[in-house]
Amino acid sequence: MNKNLEKVSFCKKCVISNQKVLPSQPLEDDSAHSNKEKLSFKDGVCFACLEVEKKYNQHIDWEKRETELKVLLEKYRSRNGSYDCLVPGSGGKDSVWQAHVLKTKYGMNPLTVTFSPHIYTDVGMQNFHNWPLRGGVPNFLYTPNGKIHGKLTSLAFKNLLHPFQPFILGQRHFSSHMAKMFDIKLIFHGESQAEAGGQADELGRSDMLLRYWSRSKNQNIKIAGYNLQELKEFGISENDLKYYLPLDVDEIIKKDIKLLYLGHWERCEPQENYYLATKITNFKPNDLRTESTFSKYSGIDDRVDPFHFYTAYVKFGYGRCSEDASKEIRNQYITRDEGVKLVHKYDHEFPKRYFKDFLEYTNIKEEEFYETLDSFRSPLLWEKTGNDYRYCNNWKLKHSVV
Ligand SMILES: [Zn+2]
Repeated sequence: MNKNLEKVSFCKKCVISNQKVLPSQPLEDDSAHSNKEKLSFKDGVCFACLEVEKKYNQHIDWEKRETELKVLLEKYRSRNGSYDCLVPGSGGKDSVWQAHVLKTKYGMNPLTVTFSPHIYTDVGMQNFHNWPLRGGVPNFLYTPNGKIHGKLTSLAFKNLLHPFQPFILGQRHFSSHMAKMFDIKLIFHGESQAEAGGQADELGRSDMLLRYWSRSKNQNIKIAGYNLQELKEFGISENDLKYYLPLDVDEIIKKDIKLLYLGHWERCEPQENYYLATKITNFKPNDLRTESTFSKYSGIDDRVDPFHFYTAYVKFGYGRCSEDASKEIRNQYITRDEGVKLVHKYDHEFPKRYFKDFLEYTNIKEEEFYETLDSFRSPLLWEKTGNDYRYCNNWKLKHSVV
């Protein structure tokens, strides 16, 4: 069944639609997105709003959580100066906050690791460099072979309309390979992925469920929708893919590696993290507003990143601004009315700034780019409004948040 075939509606509290897809195991992605679950709603309110509300709910005893975290960290704390926890990140506001809190408040010895963006922006490179330089933490940067990564990105665009999928895999799984290499047991992410919408069994959890970051025996693994044998025909070997693939589940359990959300124990607030990062690492927002949204300080390090959000907009009918505005509403920075206005203003904006870079990186011609986008448009979501195809001027969403 095509899961798109349901009536579009919007959350009463934020501005996200019921077409929002939840995080999944990307190794199972196919072109019909048949592995992806949609965001659930209760009485017209989405599960992401319900999850974030708990953070502002006075029933959470933050002092008790702090004590719990101290007990946990004590068990894993290094006694000989070796690294005792790992923070994957880009040197953006959230990863700076995570490493800083673990180091200064809890006295841990974090190693930070980075899976490189496709093509760094100038401001992204500067922020990344300042993380170890000024933030007082060591960092390992892994930059995949650009020819292989570009090919995978291109295949994932054409086959799944998900050009970011290979990067998501690398970003998620590289850190557990590094944990294994350095015999580190604790990997810390910032906020739970459930804060942007999660499945019922992951709400309120302090760790990421193993199904998202491990590999089971006989699992049918695909990248860009192709299995490992098929990828060989594109000149990509299993060795090239080592850091894109997760560790075996048995190995993770045996080595007692955990993937935890620091935000479960410490209140993680985007704007507070931003102010902290400006102080600690001289983190700089972009001079220019990020296209398709209103913000200047999140997701600014990669020239390919705007096409992750734009392709999701084409497939599912909600854009980058809908995601950002919903997050700001949930964190009580803006009202829903303000969010609706922002969505109408920015959600449809085509990311022109790095369009040429994207086409070059993926070796895709402009015409093929539009044809691929159009082949993934659902008639439930889109109507054609003319023939001015450049920057998708000839398409309009049928449903808009009010
Ligand atoms: Zn909501």
